Amino acid sequence: MPIRLLPDTLVNQIKAGEVVERPAAVVKELVENALDAGATRIEVEAEQGGLGLLRIRDNGHGIARDELLLALQRHATSKILSLEDLEGVCSLGFRGEALPSILSVSRLSLTSRRVDEDHAWRVHGDGDVMVQTPEPAALAGGTVVEVRDLFYNTPARRKFLKSDGTEFRHVDQALRRLALARREVAFSWSHNGKRVLDLRPLDVLGNGEERVREVCGPDFIANALHVDEERVGLRLHGWLGLPAFSRSQPDLQYLYVNGRAVRDRLLAGALRRAFADVMHSTRYPAFVLYLDIDPRGVDVNVHPQKTEVRFRDAARVHEMLFGVVHRALRDVRPDPQQHHRV
Ligand code: ADP
Ligand code: MG
Repeated sequence: MPIRLLPDTLVNQIKAGEVVERPAAVVKELVENALDAGATRIEVEAEQGGLGLLRIRDNGHGIARDELLLALQRHATSKILSLEDLEGVCSLGFRGEALPSILSVSRLSLTSRRVDEDHAWRVHGDGDVMVQTPEPAALAGGTVVEVRDLFYNTPARRKFLKSDGTEFRHVDQALRRLALARREVAFSWSHNGKRVLDLRPLDVLGNGEERVREVCGPDFIANALHVDEERVGLRLHGWLGLPAFSRSQPDLQYLYVNGRAVRDRLLAGALRRAFADVMHSTRYPAFVLYLDIDPRGVDVNVHPQKTEVRFRDAARVHEMLFGVVHRALRDVRPDPQQHHRV
């Protein structure tokens, strides 16, 4: 075959394979967009595990009429302009890939109203944009994104999905992860019309314990140590489950870097080592930890899902994480001297 440029829709579908592999990933991207838009209230409705419908409603700053179609284009973003911006990026998104990727594998509608507009505007598409110009719509403010029939046009992808119940569990997990990240934002979500959680916004000045209790359960907070330590350019705070609260699965592990949930082998390794002598090797620690660092000391542009990070001074971050956790667990650790005596 001769060499050809791939059609746009196909490029977006290929991208969608990386960015949105299941309904939970769609929810993560759309809620991150709402957070980046400064929303203080986010509501998510899911039907049939998110495969039938996902509706994300926010009260953020909205999208101007003339930018609605642009928002659905690949590599279109309002969040960065230059490499310099990328290096200090504080927003959750910046790649301009989520909306076009989701649109390419669903029936999507985007309705938005900025404060300076008399009414809302709406654009929509099935796999590809279907309208030339935005249509008038009704909405008090903010943005609503509706995603129906996810993967309707990519049967291979759809085949890999699990039952509605399992897919919704992933959606729920993704929302809990986001709700723990941003405790000053009100979140609520429902599945098939049934309310699952309704979280009121917390005071930014508090430590957010109430949100942790609601998301992780009262048992966790009752069996957790609170830590909060600072070094130059670094702060680590959060909760560490006591060894008695260890889990058979790594299902209560939340680690954030600058408000972004991350999966990081280095940090996970530091935590495992810090817990190693208080916990059986077949058990998993529970934790909710927030690491705040100068954004210039961390690179988030490592992977399309943006859950991996690279630190400029990885050794220092590792050392702090290990040190703080290891010291906090001191009082619950068996005393080695005593071991020798018996
Ligand atoms: P990215 O988040 O990487 O910029 P997206 O494809 O997720 O890319 O979104 C494209 C653009 O659409 C964003 O940069 C933003 O300007 C706009 N946008 C998307 N969702 C919202 C929202 N809920 N509220 C306001 N603007 C939004
Ligand atoms: Mg985005």
